[in-house]
Amino acid sequence: MSTDIAVIGGGVSGLAAAYELRQRGHRVLVLERQVRTGGNAVSERLGGFLMEHGPTTVNGASPTALAFSGALGLDGQRRDLGAGVRRRYLVRDGRLHGLSTHPLGLVAANYLSAAGRLRMAVETLVGRDRVGEEESVAQFCRRRFGAEFTSRVIEPLVGGLFAGDAERLSVNALFPRLVEMERRHGSITRAALVRRLKGGRMPGRVLFSWRDGVGSLPRALTGALGPAVRTGVTVRRIHRRGDGFGIDVGEEGVIDARAVLLATQPHVAAALLENLDVEAAEAAAAIDAPPLAVVFLGYDRGQIAHPLDGFGFLTPSVEGRSVSGVLFCSTLFQGRAPEAHVALAVYIGGARAPDLALRPTEELADLARRELADLVGARGAPVVVRVRQWPRGLPQYEIGHRQRVDRIAEAARRAPGLFVTGNYISGVSVSACLEQAIASAARIDGTLRPRSMPRVPAAAPEARNLV
Ligand SMILES: Cc1cc2nc3c(=O)[nH]c(=O)nc-3n(C[C@H](O)[C@H](O)[C@H](O)COP(=O)(O)OP(=O)(O)OC[C@H]3O[C@@H](n4cnc5c(N)ncnc54)[C@H](O)[C@@H]3O)c2cc1C
Repeated sequence: MSTDIAVIGGGVSGLAAAYELRQRGHRVLVLERQVRTGGNAVSERLGGFLMEHGPTTVNGASPTALAFSGALGLDGQRRDLGAGVRRRYLVRDGRLHGLSTHPLGLVAANYLSAAGRLRMAVETLVGRDRVGEEESVAQFCRRRFGAEFTSRVIEPLVGGLFAGDAERLSVNALFPRLVEMERRHGSITRAALVRRLKGGRMPGRVLFSWRDGVGSLPRALTGALGPAVRTGVTVRRIHRRGDGFGIDVGEEGVIDARAVLLATQPHVAAALLENLDVEAAEAAAAIDAPPLAVVFLGYDRGQIAHPLDGFGFLTPSVEGRSVSGVLFCSTLFQGRAPEAHVALAVYIGGARAPDLALRPTEELADLARRELADLVGARGAPVVVRVRQWPRGLPQYEIGHRQRVDRIAEAARRAPGLFVTGNYISGVSVSACLEQAIASAARIDGTLRPRSMPRVPAAAPEARNLV
């Protein structure tokens, strides 16, 4: 069996790249280890509830995400955030503090002490002594905004968004815009004000999903790709064969391909790269993705004392709790729980407590129930509980990440025809994966396209600043 391009991994990244390559007129074959496609993006109906095992929201500010929704005929099923999402909560001293979603909400609220708010307010006076050096997110934020803001706001935010540790994650890799704002204007506050005066807005996050959840996206991509997707096929080894590659899929033999796109998790890419490009293999192996667990709970509305009038809540490490965050799923989007019921998703583990995420499922469910009883007044047994454990959660963009990604990208130069995409290259979000997939497809197209082949316009713009 042979193909032009073999895409290894049928998550959002692999499927989107394959779709784009097909649009550009190439023969592709997606090989997915599991019996279903989607990777992290799994949405499951449980009675009248809808559980997201992985991503819950998609960034609607991404033209690429919107273009995919339109091209796949999903626009009619798009769902914006519910009207009840009025606040984001943070835990302090064992109770929830609601903050408005406005950028100045934090300065106005008394979540931080007066000294902490004053320290934030004098950010414009802080010098630029570390500019040019790579720093952790926590170092950068402490230096600019103070220790309290960092431990009480940034640390839980980074824990919630990236399941990561702000002390180890690289601000340069995750938030290059902030670094650039400091470099150009000497202060983040000043840069934001300049932007406003010029009529611009801070890059905001407009979030959306689809009626049947984020899993709708890989489902639609899989449907559009038809027989070009093969599930239940584990790629064991890839080797050079003539000008192209031989892909060993076990008992089913070897598939020949002119080019290969690795769209797996970093540890799998590391193993598959080992005999193709040692340098890239070592760089991919150095990217950690600590375990993460999601506990989904459905309750009768009357069982929860809290109004659940927001996005959910995040817990700073200093609070010493075992959950890193909770989403109010049925407030976020309509149709996530039956009438007179609510749904919540509790996140446990990540870099903060990797071992906890792998505890027995009953223990995780109990832990989630106790935390909800304490923080949102959940009473009695939930109507539904489901635990999903990800032994490899989100890739950590730690200090040195950009150099590691450069070494992986150079594999395409050292081993022509070999390409790598995925959530550890230029952003973990679904939209970043889509943007990176388009960029990877464009590069493959540029390499394989014979001069005589007509150019087909790309489905969406090329990747820019993705995180
Ligand atoms: C709990 C959780 C919550 C999240 N929440 C959000 C959110 O709200 N919003 C957001 O934008 N993002 C979120 N994310 C991040 C986002 O979902 C992921 O980064 C993205 O879906 C990753 O897609 P991917 O295709 O790059 O990788 P994956 O989804 O990991 O796909 C890789 C695929 O490769 C396959 N594979 C592995 N080895 C082989 C092999 N040897 N042969 C063949 N196939 C193989 C795997 O089975 C898998 O299907 C979340 C992630 C998690 C885990």
